[in-house]
Amino acid sequence: MSLNNITGFQSLLSVDGNINAIIIGLITVGLITIITVSAYSFENIINNTDKKSVKIALQITEGVILAVCMILVQHIFKALNSGDTRSWFYATTQLTLLLYSLYTMQNYVIEFMNIAMPIYVFGHHLIHGDNNYLLLFVILTILLAITVNYISRNTNQLLNSEWKYIILQVIYGAIWWVIIWSFHRFTLYYTVSMLVGFIIYMSIIRYIAKWIRDSFNNYNALSEKVNYDELTGIRNRANFDDVSREVFKVYSKDHEVPLTMAMFDIDHFKIFNDNYGHAAGDMVLRHVATLFEKELFKKTSRGQIFRFGGEEFVIIFRGTTSEEATTVIQEIRNDLINDPVEYEGQELNIRISLGVSSLQPSDNNASDLFNRVDKYLYESKNQGRDRITVEDKTIVFN
Ligand code: GH3
Ligand code: MG
Ligand code: MG
Repeated sequence: MSLNNITGFQSLLSVDGNINAIIIGLITVGLITIITVSAYSFENIINNTDKKSVKIALQITEGVILAVCMILVQHIFKALNSGDTRSWFYATTQLTLLLYSLYTMQNYVIEFMNIAMPIYVFGHHLIHGDNNYLLLFVILTILLAITVNYISRNTNQLLNSEWKYIILQVIYGAIWWVIIWSFHRFTLYYTVSMLVGFIIYMSIIRYIAKWIRDSFNNYNALSEKVNYDELTGIRNRANFDDVSREVFKVYSKDHEVPLTMAMFDIDHFKIFNDNYGHAAGDMVLRHVATLFEKELFKKTSRGQIFRFGGEEFVIIFRGTTSEEATTVIQEIRNDLINDPVEYEGQELNIRISLGVSSLQPSDNNASDLFNRVDKYLYESKNQGRDRITVEDKTIVFN
């Protein structure tokens, strides 16, 4: 059987061929986008889970996505070329999907699909003894396995080096073309066309992939920005809302393990602004945030501080009772008193008022706990400031 080699290439030069090429190009980009988006979404899930079953299920799903994409391409080619899927353009499109998935989805199922594909495509020829080059086929399949394995072990290195990427692409393409040649003989001219086509295709794909990857990274950088407070660098209110909801879900299931929340507000903060200017006020905020974060990290790994807004801060203590949290807070509060901020030669004495409470079985959501803590903070304020109210008991700092 001969591959309709010349018509395959010539058809690309005709108007119909060009339109078909554009349609297939657009569909390929669409499929590449689907592969990329699912790869990145699954990667996020895989990074956040320890469950092996989830990881395996997602790897299999990725394999199914690739298989569906390849079957789709097969049907589209059949529809556009009135039943013919034996053009170099077809092979190039399928190989692009295979190789691209290998780069994007770091996944054993995809690796297996890449290695087993020649057997899947040409296995029936081998069974019927159509191939005179059985030994060649076996050697090439082994070479393909080695190449695929190398690519999947060195993905990042290859994506970052243009020439290594091209070399591996040529090796991968060349092995495939020889495999195809051992079943469907074609001319040198045709082989070169296929290889050049594949390289051009994969280079375009690499740019698109890089663009999508950069967009994802920008998005992640943006979400980092969204979660942190610009002035103090600590986590912000939006992040507090997310985290408090998450911890409530976990800790409300098991009340054996305590969860404590603390909130504090700087006393008469407005005076710093009024007397020394906004820059001094900002400096006080940065000092308080940094000191608390640093000391929380040193004293307990289980406390996380957020800037709730203005001069108000919240701390979530995981696996900590209100008594334990109070001890830590009192120590940090003493550090704050002993280490006053200097602004233009003047010492700024900072005082804070706090509310502290632990999660109760009767709390229906994170807001129930937060509202109690907020109420205790205002008790501290109402009783004269510079004090801490723990579960409705107000203590004056000494
Ligand atoms: P209280 O003891 O009752 O808490 O009194 P206070 O002065 O601390 O509280 P008040 O709510 O009257 O004033 C808070 C001020 O904090 C008002 C607002 O202008 C100022 N503020 C809010 N955010 C910032 C900020 O990012 N930087 C500066 N410099 N000031 C801020
Ligand atoms: Mg306030
Ligand atoms: Mg205040």
